[in-house]
Amino acid sequence: PRGTAQWQAADAAHFLHPFTDFGALAAQGSRIITRAEQLYLWDSEGQRLFDAMSGLWCVNVGYGQQALIDAATRQLQQLPFYNAFFQTATPPAIELAELLAELTPPQFRHAFFTGSGSEGNDTVVRMVRRYWDLQGQPDRRILISRNNAYHGSTMAGASLGGMKSMHAQGGLPIPGIVHIDQPYLAAYRRQRPAAAGLDEEEFGLIAARWLEKKVLELGPHRVAAFIGEPVQGAGGVIVPPASYWPEIQRICDRYDILLVSDEVITGFGRTGHWFGCETQGFRPDLMTFAKGVTSGYIPLGGVMVGERVARTLIELGGEFEHGYTYSGHPVACAVAVANLQLIREQRLVERVHDDVGPYLAEQFATLAGHPLVGDVQTSGLMGALLLVREAAGQSPFRPDQPVGMVCRGHCFAQGLIMRAVGDRMIVAPPLIISRAQIDEMMALIRHCLDLTLADVHS
Ligand code: PLP
Repeated sequence: PRGTAQWQAADAAHFLHPFTDFGALAAQGSRIITRAEQLYLWDSEGQRLFDAMSGLWCVNVGYGQQALIDAATRQLQQLPFYNAFFQTATPPAIELAELLAELTPPQFRHAFFTGSGSEGNDTVVRMVRRYWDLQGQPDRRILISRNNAYHGSTMAGASLGGMKSMHAQGGLPIPGIVHIDQPYLAAYRRQRPAAAGLDEEEFGLIAARWLEKKVLELGPHRVAAFIGEPVQGAGGVIVPPASYWPEIQRICDRYDILLVSDEVITGFGRTGHWFGCETQGFRPDLMTFAKGVTSGYIPLGGVMVGERVARTLIELGGEFEHGYTYSGHPVACAVAVANLQLIREQRLVERVHDDVGPYLAEQFATLAGHPLVGDVQTSGLMGALLLVREAAGQSPFRPDQPVGMVCRGHCFAQGLIMRAVGDRMIVAPPLIISRAQIDEMMALIRHCLDLTLADVHS
């Protein structure tokens, strides 16, 4: 067997990693992750890591669940692949579509499968435009999204996303996609000192009405859909004010605009309901999902299509010329069915809602007194700490070493995987986490904040 150094050399020589600085990787080497159990990972040096990010927000049921492994094994033996093109189907894909219809809000009775969340969002772009064509309103072409959103890395996904640096690298967005600002009060206050006294709920209405303003500016007859993550994830776990989504719903209803919820992170229990739109109180026409649908054990994504759009596609549409080789992949769908049954049987969503979600909120609140922490936010088992350099005195980090990256470095060295987004530190642990494991995570977080604080003062 190869050792760490050999893995690192082969990695640097041949593997172009996603979202990675190639030069830094070649210079420093990767950490090679070799196995996992529950919510712990081990690297090739035998070091244990507490995975407070569920991989990439996806391993909802934790690592090593035998029911998922068995479902994959059985399906691989029985029928490892067949497609769903041209009027064929496999039992796992049918079963999953049926189960999703049961678990999602009542307007959803149909699923369209993809291989990833990005492809789900590409599907949304084509599907909403197709819908409006069939409705005889072909001018409704524009999708409105938000700054700092993340909707994936394909051309449409990255266009819907609001990451300016991603747009710059790909000549994006593609035509017909426009952005409004995100509902993030701390950022709004930074830009407008006059907003210091604004409360969260007032701000939620202001932020939602940026949508109305944009719709009126473009002309409602040209707007096809609005898309958003119920809680922005990769943008830094930005939990919107409670007033935000109901007002977005009102505006979409008023101008007859399709409302799309990107549930790739928030789906399948993360926020304490099955779907983030339920936590935030809105009723989407379409919903993209991926990640937690299989707990990341195998790639799968898709779009839940509400009856309004589904009926039009089915009754007026004929062939929808869109799909992927792996749309409805039988092994992926079999794993998803086993995963969703496990979430249901173990009442993980209820646990997040009633027990570990509130406990995380309570524990995070105790960090608000730390000299490096300016604000804390949680929604179910998503949490963010806003690190405020100012609070730690006047010795700023070097500009090439943002405070989040310094903190993340300490976490990584201390055996805790947390994510840094600018000056926000993020957790999204597996839904199976216990209170004792939250305590263990909190002790690591406190220790790493102290180490980071010591750096500020050095
Ligand atoms: N949408 C959201 C909200 C996401 O967080 C992500 C991935 O992080 C995606 C879409 C893209 O999903 P995938 O990486 O499976 O293409």
